[in-house]
Amino acid sequence: MHKKLPTDDVVSAKGIPLASKCCLCDEQAESFNHLFMGCKFFVAVWKMFLDCFGMSWPNIEDLPLLVRWWIRKCKILVLKEPWSMGLVIVADNVWTEKNSRRYGSRFLSPFYVYDKIKRVYQDSKISISDRLPHISDIMCCRRLGLIINPKCPPEPLEIFWCKPPSGWTKLNVDGSSMGNPGRAGIGGVIRNDLGAMIGSFKNFIGIQSNYVAEFQALIVCLLMAKKLRVSSLWIESDSAAVVAVVQARSIPWFVAQQWISLEPFLAFYFLEDFPLF
Ligand SMILES: [Zn+2]
Repeated sequence: MHKKLPTDDVVSAKGIPLASKCCLCDEQAESFNHLFMGCKFFVAVWKMFLDCFGMSWPNIEDLPLLVRWWIRKCKILVLKEPWSMGLVIVADNVWTEKNSRRYGSRFLSPFYVYDKIKRVYQDSKISISDRLPHISDIMCCRRLGLIINPKCPPEPLEIFWCKPPSGWTKLNVDGSSMGNPGRAGIGGVIRNDLGAMIGSFKNFIGIQSNYVAEFQALIVCLLMAKKLRVSSLWIESDSAAVVAVVQARSIPWFVAQQWISLEPFLAFYFLEDFPLF
């Protein structure tokens, strides 16, 4: 836009005589460098815009130098797109205000021009990631009215309960704590191969972690299965950690005593030669 926009200095250079006065500040002759970099009206708008990004006006009155400064700053900013757009949006709005003053009757203050700039950003539908690393970036988005994309909710996972094979008994166990550790509870259901419930339990176990709660749920359900003298156990737990530990046959210390008491039952029914630790 340098030497393309019909600022007074460009028009005068083409041999058209005119008395020049900046419509924005009424203090100096209108030239490209004054209008877009030196005019106190423009600088006031720049300052409000740069303040959103935590920047100060660099006091540059040379367009190539200003563009280089802008590109340098862009490399270190997270909000690159809003920053890159700013150079054109701010200049365009101030140029429009200058023309409104000269050829119309509208006189907006720097504050109102800045408000128009914010509305351009709000209508731009720029996509801002929700993974902004600094609070200053979030504040910048709020000041410019940019919407931060909310996190996409995870896809729901459909889970069906299936009856165990004929002759088998299914144990469904679960445990959780509010706070991890926090107030913890356990529960479980035992069903036969027809899907009929033959046992269930729910207990509050005090302040525990999720892992302890999940393991306690398994142990209590196994103790109940032992008491009911059920055979061919099929155990389902939603705790990957508990499943992995049982499959690796590395029982944690906090349930070791209870596991030992279950050893004859487990070895007899479904785990032959089951080492404890
Ligand atoms: Zn001026």
